[in-house]
Amino acid sequence: MCEFVSRRARSATTTIALSAVVLAFVALPAPAQEARTNRIQIEYVPPKSPEYQSLLDSLKANHGLEKMQEIFSPFRLPGDLTLRTTECGMANAWYQRPTVTICYEYLNDIRKSLPAETTSQGITPTDAVLGQFFYVVAHEMGHAMFDMLNVPLWGRAEDAADQFATLMMLQFGKDSARRLIGGAAFSYKNYVNNPKVVVPLEAFSEVHGAPMQRFYNLLCMAYGADRETFADLVTNGYLPQARARNCRVEFGEANFAFQQTIRPSVDRDLAKKVMEGAWLPDVLEHPDLPPPVPEQPK
Ligand SMILES: [Zn+2]
Repeated sequence: MCEFVSRRARSATTTIALSAVVLAFVALPAPAQEARTNRIQIEYVPPKSPEYQSLLDSLKANHGLEKMQEIFSPFRLPGDLTLRTTECGMANAWYQRPTVTICYEYLNDIRKSLPAETTSQGITPTDAVLGQFFYVVAHEMGHAMFDMLNVPLWGRAEDAADQFATLMMLQFGKDSARRLIGGAAFSYKNYVNNPKVVVPLEAFSEVHGAPMQRFYNLLCMAYGADRETFADLVTNGYLPQARARNCRVEFGEANFAFQQTIRPSVDRDLAKKVMEGAWLPDVLEHPDLPPPVPEQPK
């Protein structure tokens, strides 16, 4: 476009020169929009397949997208961000500027996986659906925030998006955080129930962490944030002691990154209203390292 305009601008005639001015004006990038809150738009796209209609009806009746819109409304963004549910032809979810897309096929998989009753870990069917829905939306919102707020990332974007989603879940006070984390962890139930995993070597090239790594990361962040509320994750053997030991630091580093790079773009008063004042305390430096592990005699 710019090259086209400059070629026109070389013309000697007034008419063409005038056109060039008009073209140049049209070709100018849009002025940067002011970063502000309440940038989240939502859209329930009607599914083509009748099998997803009841899913959409349920999602609308529970104000699923409206709730997520409210939760992300305190983020001051430079442009609008649309959160959309639609039929995709595959079970997936993704962010492509300026839209987060959640497929009905993905939500349907969640619906089909729900427990019939409260699990032995205390996860209710409601927690399982809310936690998994929150987890996928917040993960994609994480990608969107890193992009729209120009956040530099060390490490893999998928791990960072998981950490963002987990930190968001931990903002809602002990009870809600516990229910959301438990519900999100339920998405890995098939892996937890099959402790021996055999995969082709290529599986390790995936941009996402392996499902069980994501499961342990989720639990570790939660335990690191609140070792009382999530103590049973360790005592019941879901989170191995060797990993649990460092979780306070793992959580602390992610929380430090969040607060240094994203929190300045969050309207605190609005966030307090949305999350009932449950924002975690200020963090201004890296967490202390844990004591060294004693050498094991060989
Ligand atoms: Zn992702």
